[in-house]
Amino acid sequence: MAKLKNVRVRFAPSPTGYLHVGGARTAIFNYLFARHNGGTFVLRIEDTDAERSTRESELSLLEDLRWLGIDWDEGPDVGGPHGPYRQSERMGIYRDITDQLIASGHAYPCFCTDEELERKRAEMVARSEAPHYDGTCRNLSAADVAAKRAAKIPEAIRFRVGEGAARFEDAVRGAMELGHDMVGDWVILRSNGLPTYNFAAAVDDGLMQITHVIRGEEHLPNTLRQIMIYDALGKRHPMFAHVPLILAEDRSKLSKRHGASSVGDLRATGYLPDAAFNYLLLLGWSHPQSREIMPRDEMIKAFSIERIGKAAAVFDKQKLLWMNGQYIRKLDLDTLCRLVEPYMPAWIRDGYDGAHQREIVAILQDSLDVLGDFPARAAIFEPDVEYEPETRALLETDSAKRVLNSMVAKLGAHTGALTPENFKEMILSTGQEVSLKGKDLYFPIRGAMTGSVHGPDLTRVAAVKGRDTVMRLLQGAVS
Ligand code: GLU
Repeated sequence: MAKLKNVRVRFAPSPTGYLHVGGARTAIFNYLFARHNGGTFVLRIEDTDAERSTRESELSLLEDLRWLGIDWDEGPDVGGPHGPYRQSERMGIYRDITDQLIASGHAYPCFCTDEELERKRAEMVARSEAPHYDGTCRNLSAADVAAKRAAKIPEAIRFRVGEGAARFEDAVRGAMELGHDMVGDWVILRSNGLPTYNFAAAVDDGLMQITHVIRGEEHLPNTLRQIMIYDALGKRHPMFAHVPLILAEDRSKLSKRHGASSVGDLRATGYLPDAAFNYLLLLGWSHPQSREIMPRDEMIKAFSIERIGKAAAVFDKQKLLWMNGQYIRKLDLDTLCRLVEPYMPAWIRDGYDGAHQREIVAILQDSLDVLGDFPARAAIFEPDVEYEPETRALLETDSAKRVLNSMVAKLGAHTGALTPENFKEMILSTGQEVSLKGKDLYFPIRGAMTGSVHGPDLTRVAAVKGRDTVMRLLQGAVS
């Protein structure tokens, strides 16, 4: 892919909650687009909703982005030439530009009260009209304005919407045309002095010299208002790329009730950040050679907006689990041990020394989809086991009893530590003695030792559990 020059993109979350997978995907697309083109990735905090924005939420957004391995070149914590990067710290800028728009006739003060607006709105809805501002304050004379100001009537500032349409080429969706008649004169600055999202976002994207706005499709209607601001300020608008929604498997919009909808959930469940990043990237983007699991440098090399699809992406939890499992398989043992640490049950920590704990992690590596699976998978190492029904039935058979009796005799005669090798020897000679092999030989032993006839290499499990425990479990199973 040819590189574009001077690319500047931004991720602009509102700090009113957690980072959701949709937001994370938007951040990933912007980040990869910037890195692919050697451009700049800006993080801007859109905290103009003073009531809902919190600093805790901002901190958790930053932490979640960092966890995903996303870094930014300009932002509230690192600064940069176009700061401040929190909208709440840019109020003077919005005020100045509002004044500029009033002076050029693109905006005007509006003294309508919320009650009046609400009443008119209800009337329009009752007449089956699309609600829009009726223009009451559109043409107030200077004297009217002065009188209302003198009477201290709260004043909002509205954008004067002209005729016409916003025509633009969306990098994902192609040619777009949004008629101005879709909106009435809209508020850019509220009576409390705070800018509205569409105004602040367009002002900042302009001042921060953003070249491409990559964001979710739900923002498409906002683009109409934002383009009006660029036009009024005589600026070129950035290239827009509206990315299709992420749906749950039932094709409804992905939400909390589907579970694992935030990055924090993914982290707590024990997904690896690289796997989560990789999976989210594939929600709407595909590699030119259809590669799925790939390292970060390949993602950066291959990323382009052209390969963002037009169809909604479906969040497939099974695929995410599978992919995470693939990433876990590839970890070196030291790293996996470190990552499993928070999930290590106390009974393992207290009951096994460091070397054995490490061996348990190694044995279970292939069976983990998420790190959070560890305690359940590790249950086979408990000193006492609970038989699954299938195991119980098997242990009651004559042939199982013959296998176990032979194993108990061999273990009784064994001195020294149990190793995978000498345990294997015992199994093989038991097999010869009782003339059984395969499942008939292995299932009773595994079942008696772990409670389940399925599971990882039983010779390694036996070596970890130790001779005495294995002996006791096998004896218990026969009686
Ligand atoms: N603050 C907006 C949001 O979180 C940003 C939308 C945009 O990217 O323009 O949805």
